Amino acid sequence: MLEKFERYPLTFGPTPIEKLERLSQHLGGKVELHAKREDCNSGLAFGGNKLRKLEYIVPDAIASGADTLVSIGGVQSNHTRMIAAVAAKIGFKCRLVQESWVPHEDAVYDRVGNIMLSRIMGADVRLVDEGFDIGIRRSWEDAIAEVEASGGKPYPIPAGASVHKYGGLGYVGFAEEVRAQEEALGYKFDYIVVCTVTGSTHAGMLVGFAKDGRARNVIGIDASATPEQTRDQVFEIATRTAELVELGKPLVKDDVVLVEDYAYPVYGVPSDETKEAIRLCARLEGMITDPVYEGKSMQGMIDLVKKGYFPEGSKVLYAHLGGAPALNGYGYTFRNG
Ligand SMILES: *Cc1c(COP(=O)(O)O)cnc(C)c1O
Repeated sequence: MLEKFERYPLTFGPTPIEKLERLSQHLGGKVELHAKREDCNSGLAFGGNKLRKLEYIVPDAIASGADTLVSIGGVQSNHTRMIAAVAAKIGFKCRLVQESWVPHEDAVYDRVGNIMLSRIMGADVRLVDEGFDIGIRRSWEDAIAEVEASGGKPYPIPAGASVHKYGGLGYVGFAEEVRAQEEALGYKFDYIVVCTVTGSTHAGMLVGFAKDGRARNVIGIDASATPEQTRDQVFEIATRTAELVELGKPLVKDDVVLVEDYAYPVYGVPSDETKEAIRLCARLEGMITDPVYEGKSMQGMIDLVKKGYFPEGSKVLYAHLGGAPALNGYGYTFRNG
């Protein structure tokens, strides 16, 4: 589906799929859980889902003649860490706007984890006192104007690389990759569980799996706590991406399956149940999930298995999108494990 698009390789290649044997057994053994390890997809600053998206954006950045990547996220944004890594790798400068999207309790929250890594990689990191919003932000537009005013050539990348015109392509590729892996495995996955916030990961998968009629088998677990806006954004990105890749099938709003029940209390703050899911997965599988994104989708998957949402015998693929570096900002939460 992506043959006509230029791709700049930033990842190792297809990501492994592994069976979560002990977690599946712990939950009754009636549903087979697997994980596709997008968190191990690259040697660039610990990797993660944003790199798959950026592989289709970097060729445009280079062709534009720009010299500075400009992007935005929360203080512990994984996305801005990935932008800093990519800028280093392709020889660009990097200007990052880090907004106060998360009410945090750790004194070192803005010194460790993702933001520390971005600083080490040489990004110009600026903290801005604005709250959570997945839309286009004034502070980001200001940063673009400032880079221009100081003689630089900015290449703007929005939050999560999602509403960028090519933001959905990377995860169309994910679906194609899963199809090839299913061929080799000799079976297909009945459901794909994915954490959804700025939307292009879910949207790309939706388009990719729509090709073989599985758009609604992609189960988005909302972690934004603004699900209406997230659902709209997933649909917009999916519609635009379907046109780009010439899917040839119409998409409707109901193709966006977004479960709203696990994002509480707010974006970036783990509930007690999220923390329990993080511990359970870590203790049974040694697989680390984070309090902002993957812990919430892990909690969602576990709860949906317990509720019988997936019929007996189902094979479920959990897309592990990365994010572990943010855990460093939650030292108080996990001080006793
Ligand atoms: C960005 C991110 C997500 C959400 O992906 P979107 O495309 O923004 O919906 C989920 N998990 C991790 C670890 C992320 O960094």
